[in-house]
Amino acid sequence: MEFSTVIWVLFGLAIGAFLWKTGIGMLRSFTTPLPAPPPAGEMRRVNLRYRCSVCGVELKLTMAPDEDPPPPKHCLEEMELVAPIFE
Ligand SMILES: [Zn+2]
Repeated sequence: MEFSTVIWVLFGLAIGAFLWKTGIGMLRSFTTPLPAPPPAGEMRRVNLRYRCSVCGVELKLTMAPDEDPPPPKHCLEEMELVAPIFE
């Protein structure tokens, strides 16, 4: 067996192993459910008001995983932050 053949065999094995791992990883990401929300103790109390710019509905957000959560969506649009309420 020539040296270059050995290199190519090793190369092929490395690629095979890589594809195998990424394949397993992708399968995992498909099968594992979404991570559970953190326990209530880790949630932050927030007081934010959002308004839907399409239909005008407003809602108040009182709990979020962090202090700057992504805006909720309504009418397929991201809702606008009206004003943070500091109490
Ligand atoms: Zn709306």
